[in-house]
Amino acid sequence: IWAKVEELPPDAIFLTKTLFTKDPSPSKVNLGIGAYRTEEGNPYILKVVQKVEHEIINDKTLDKEYAPICGDPQYVQLCQSVILGKNSLALKEKRVNLEQKKKKEIEGFFCWRFLSYVPFFFPKKNRPQVRNHCLEQVHCVCCANSLNKPTWGNHTKILAKARIEEGSYRYWNAKGRNLDIEGMLEDLNKANTGDVILLHACAHNPTGTDPTPEQWKKIANVMKKKKLIPFFDIAYQGFATGDLDRDAVSHKKTFESAIRLFEKEGFEFVVAQSFAKNMGLYSERAGCVTVVCNDKAYANACQSQLEAVIRPMYSNPPRYGAEIVKRVIGSAENFGLWQQEMTYMSGRIIKMRQLLRQHLEKLGTPGTWNHITDQIGMFSFTGLTGLVVSAL
Ligand code: PMP
Repeated sequence: IWAKVEELPPDAIFLTKTLFTKDPSPSKVNLGIGAYRTEEGNPYILKVVQKVEHEIINDKTLDKEYAPICGDPQYVQLCQSVILGKNSLALKEKRVNLEQKKKKEIEGFFCWRFLSYVPFFFPKKNRPQVRNHCLEQVHCVCCANSLNKPTWGNHTKILAKARIEEGSYRYWNAKGRNLDIEGMLEDLNKANTGDVILLHACAHNPTGTDPTPEQWKKIANVMKKKKLIPFFDIAYQGFATGDLDRDAVSHKKTFESAIRLFEKEGFEFVVAQSFAKNMGLYSERAGCVTVVCNDKAYANACQSQLEAVIRPMYSNPPRYGAEIVKRVIGSAENFGLWQQEMTYMSGRIIKMRQLLRQHLEKLGTPGTWNHITDQIGMFSFTGLTGLVVSAL
């Protein structure tokens, strides 16, 4: 039976990790998987996470029963308050599938897979129209003149597995090493009404380059005019600046958040949120998908559809990671400690950027290096060529 099964090449990023582990060099540096490291190059477990894990172990009221299909409602509510903010009208008016009995809770990967099921939320007679009209294409970011697409590599793979056609819009200006806002707006203008547009809410992976608040407004204007559906991926909230509210969109202090801007502008949208990075819960797979609707009834309907997707897919989510997140966000004291540790992590990342730039400049390395410190979050597009990277 299995003789004809084709062996596929390994995932490039996870392969880098395997090669790194095997490499005997004492001075090796892991620049593969995007995971925060301490000064000593070790993984970092947040102290506040250790604190609540201790509480969890000693909490005799907890059991290992199944979670509800869409996860612990209290957890989901807390996740949504972090992205939408305390003053969110959608939250207040329960337009966010916040019904106590029904919630959804999944990690980034599953959030994405949900997209493929959205057409099936609609009654059968409407479905073909929805297929052609609503989710015909998901636009990821694409480079104007490069073969590689600067978006999280898994986006492309997920869309392919979900059999959703992948479109693209320009994002990265390789020459100026900055955002190609004109190209992006031009491409959004060309998208079809009902297309889904993937937007990285903050600390863009892998370019480290976000739109400014003014540019976000322009993006929102075009998307409104063209009736495009925003799908936010927020995997680095608080990790760029150490401030959750600021990172909900941009590293500019004055701006509240891209997601919050879109909510205020009356958009209906989806958010895929992950706590892998900002709480260091990589292996715990804690995240949440949020559907913001214009009416409470729509939110309940979407919620019921999500339940119908989850039940035959993974049945119900794991509880442990969600329990950690719930205890961190749900307690004022722990929340404060979390903020402090995010400030510490993001501060160290900023310091590393400054040191790298300083050293490159001190060595008289050809070219300009301001982009290293202009970019934010964990990722940096260095501008080095493939050849140089291979040599390194
Ligand atoms: N989106 C982006 C942009 C990411 O970089 C990542 C993690 N690398 C994720 C989503 C998913 O995170 P996870 O599946 O670990 O929650």
